[in-house]
Amino acid sequence: MEEEKKVKVLISKEELESRITELAKQIYEEYKGQEVTFICILKGSIFFTVELAKKIPSDINFEFIRVSSYHGENSTGVIKMKVDLQGDIKGKDVIIIEDIVDTGRTLSYLKEYLKSKEPKSLKICALLDKKERRLCDMQADYVGFDIPDKFVVGYGLDVNEKYRNLPYIGYFENV
Ligand code: 5GP
Repeated sequence: MEEEKKVKVLISKEELESRITELAKQIYEEYKGQEVTFICILKGSIFFTVELAKKIPSDINFEFIRVSSYHGENSTGVIKMKVDLQGDIKGKDVIIIEDIVDTGRTLSYLKEYLKSKEPKSLKICALLDKKERRLCDMQADYVGFDIPDKFVVGYGLDVNEKYRNLPYIGYFENV
């Protein structure tokens, strides 16, 4: 992959693996091995969702939602639902699995939307958190890594659909 050369590593494959193992243990213990529904926010959260789920030895249901608010590296601030839930989450223990919390707008929107479906509980698990960029009051319940205000790629995160399959979280040195 030619572009890979320009990307610097922010969080290595090993660091991801180890932190995701800790998050999985925490979730498994807090839900006491009960069934949980993961709502994977497409497309950026697919790698995280899969790796996290593989480390949890209890039943997990999977749902998928796709929203869009980004064009290239810029948030438009307008959130559109592109793919909606297929199943019913009423009465279920639900965790939204998100790749990154940036301004917090996407998760604020999703939290309100999903609450209206009456789950038994609703939490948020985000792999990355750029707290200094926050524009609304939004805090994830589980966070993998707090990161600085850099535009990151890899491990599911893209720029115009590229770089998602890098096995680490990287950034562009001069961006
Ligand atoms: P928010 O609504 O919190 O501003 O943005 C959340 C969404 O913006 C994420 O799910 C992700 O798709 C996108 N996003 C925010 N920051 C980054 C970043 O640094 N890199 C990439 N590739 N996407 C980002």
